[in-house]
This record gives sequence, structure tokens and C-alpha cells, in this order.
Amino acid sequence: MKVLVINAGSSSLKYQLIDVSSKEVLAKGLCDRIGIEGSILKHTKSGGDPVIHEVSLPNHKVAIKEVINALLDKEIGVISDVSEIDAVGHRVVHGGEKFHYSVLIDENVMQALKDCIELAPLHNPPNIIGIEACKNILPDTPMVAVFDTAFHQTMPKHAYLYALPYDVYEKYGVRKYGFHGTSHKYVSERAAEMLGKPLEQLKIITCHLGNGASICAVSGGKSMDTSMGFTPLAGLAMGTRSGTIDPAVISYLMDKEKMSIKDINDYLNKQSGVLGISGVSSDFRDIQAAAEAGNERAALAIEIFCYRVKKYIGEYAAVMGGVDAVVFTAGIGENNPLVREKSVAGLEYMGIEIDLEKNQVKGKELDISKPSAKVRTLVIPTNEELAIAKETVAILSK
Ligand code: AMP
Repeated sequence: MKVLVINAGSSSLKYQLIDVSSKEVLAKGLCDRIGIEGSILKHTKSGGDPVIHEVSLPNHKVAIKEVINALLDKEIGVISDVSEIDAVGHRVVHGGEKFHYSVLIDENVMQALKDCIELAPLHNPPNIIGIEACKNILPDTPMVAVFDTAFHQTMPKHAYLYALPYDVYEKYGVRKYGFHGTSHKYVSERAAEMLGKPLEQLKIITCHLGNGASICAVSGGKSMDTSMGFTPLAGLAMGTRSGTIDPAVISYLMDKEKMSIKDINDYLNKQSGVLGISGVSSDFRDIQAAAEAGNERAALAIEIFCYRVKKYIGEYAAVMGGVDAVVFTAGIGENNPLVREKSVAGLEYMGIEIDLEKNQVKGKELDISKPSAKVRTLVIPTNEELAIAKETVAILSK
């Protein structure tokens, strides 16, 4: 079964055509600068080199049309008719409290997605535009929405409620939702497979450490708690996001720096995190290079990042009453030995001990624990697109 996976952002759209039975990515690509001058389509056929087309992409509908044209193209294409696309799986950031699972998209679902816009004003509108554009071009192809929030809907109420007057939860849905659910679910399932144990019997802490970063306590295959919150701003220090801070800092800074709501939102989302601390970059490769060259603030940014990862590991072991495995995934988790080493340093008392040589691994599945370690530490590359494609097939076969 061939599934087209779509991840639509406000001015970009990523896609992959995946053969789910063989797990092969037949083609993938990116439409960039949609609605902006200088738009491009970058398309890569399996085994081929990326091809970049400078093409006018005034909106998402045209972008989807160009994606289909590329997939059908005699030279760079991989299908000869659109009917070969069996289904489309759409990444949707926020499913609110309505969606505990992925769903087949119909008119009611579209309305419910629109109802969630208030909760994710930056992310959901482009996701919805992407779905509508796809429905327009492929009206007879079944489409499934896969939510970043759905996996976390198993969190107990005492984990997801904030200590605010209860009526803001009832009136506005202000609570912790959590994100990166597709990734946390995928790597926890892979961890169980790697360990050869049933997921239902395992307590796993999954650390999705990328430009956006979150940690999840997965007990028996269910999310019990996670570090992101009402929005993806909470929790860890990230590339440009502050993570959790004392909320009183917000009104203090707004007053001192004469900031508007938009200003403070930009400040916390785009100028903070390891970029804000280091003053160097949001990318860990640049930060690490600067730290190695003696930049103290770059070294401090790495320290702060890893300190918070370690605190969450301790917190979530407490939440689950123990831990069987810690998983590192996403750009930093998969590729940065220094961050992994610092994040678990000193946790030997919990049974977490890594082999420093195995820890040099990059981008490959590996158990990096010492043989004697009671808790397994695993590196598992995430694959959100494959997870979305599999979910899509699972929903359609129900
Ligand atoms: P993501 O958001 O998952 O793409 O992760 C982005 C972060 O991962 C950046 O801070 C990069 O420094 C880091 N990263 C991604 N790929 C690599 C790599 N091959 N080697 C080292 N770091 C990487």
C-alpha cells in the first residue's frame, strides 16, 4: 500500500510517498516558500539525487499539484497514475481533547479540526489548508489525520491539569496536551522490540531531543506525562524556545522592556533556548564547536540543556515507580554523544550506565548501556513519516 505523508507548515510542505509493506520511501521532498517570492520544489526519488525546481507556489493547492506532478513525472516520478496513491496521511499538530487516536477525515472531522485552531493558532491552520488542498487535488483518495497530541491523551488528570482556577480548563481547555506524540509512540514501540519484551510490561522514558525537544514517561505503552504543555513552548530548553520558566518573568519583562503580547511570544519562542543563552546559534553543532573553542556561554547552554534532560529522567522515573529503558531520539538524541553522556551522568545509582564507546554511535539503533546496567539506554532514530503512514493504513483497515 502506498501512502503519501503530508506535513504542511505555514510556508512549507514536506512530503514522502511510502510503500508501507516494504517500509521503502519511494520519493520525498519539500515545497518551500509557499506564498513567498522565490518558491522551490525539492524532490528526491529513492536512490536518486535531489532535484530542485524553481516554481511559482502561490498557495498550498498549487504546491500539492506540483508534488503530484513530480510524483508522476517520467524522469523523477515514481508512479504512473494518481490512483496508485492509496491514501494520504496528514500530520496535524493539535487534536485537543477530541482526538485520542488518528481518524479518517470527513466533514465532521474537518469541523472539529477547525474548532482546535484556537489551541494551536500557528500550527493547525496550515495543517488544515494542506488537507483541503489535498482533498481538492485527490478527491477520491482516503485521508487520515495523525495528531501530535493524541498519544498523550492517556495522561491522568493530575498530570495534565495546571494549578490554575479550574474554570479556565472548562472554559478554554487550558491544560497540558503534549506534543511529538507520534515520535514518542514510535520509539517506545521500537524499544520494546529491541529489548524483546512486551511493551505492556515496560516503563520507558523517551527523550525526543531536536530543535524542538520533549520527554515522555511511557508506562505499558501509554503516555503518563510529558514535558511540553498547553503549547510546545514548555519543558526543556530548546533551540530557540525557553522551555519552562517562572510565569512571573513574563509580566516583569513585558513591563521592563515595553513588550507587547506578540513581542514576548516571539522572545520566548524564537530568541530564547540555547540560542538565547549561547548567543551563537540554535544548532547544537555550532554551539558545541564554539564551546570547544572556549566560548563559555556556549558551554553553559549545553550544560543547561543536559541538566534539564537529567531532571526529567529523574522526575519520570518517580512518576512511573522505576524505569526499564531510556531512549534518545531526534537530531540531537540520535547524533550527539556529548549531550547523551552529560544527560545521564551521575544516574548510575538508578541503574543507568552507558558505555562511552558505544555512545559514539550516530543515527543508528543501538543499545549503548554497559552490559551490567539495570536500565537499558537506547539510541533509536525516530521515523515520524513511517509512523504516520502505518497509522494511516491501520485506520483504513479498521
Ligand atoms: P531536529 O529538529 O530533530 O532536526 O534536530 C536538530 C538538531 O539536531 C540540531 O541542533 C543539530 O545540531 C542536531 N543534528 C542533526 N543532525 C545531526 C548530525 N548528523 N550530527 C550532529 N548533530 C545533528
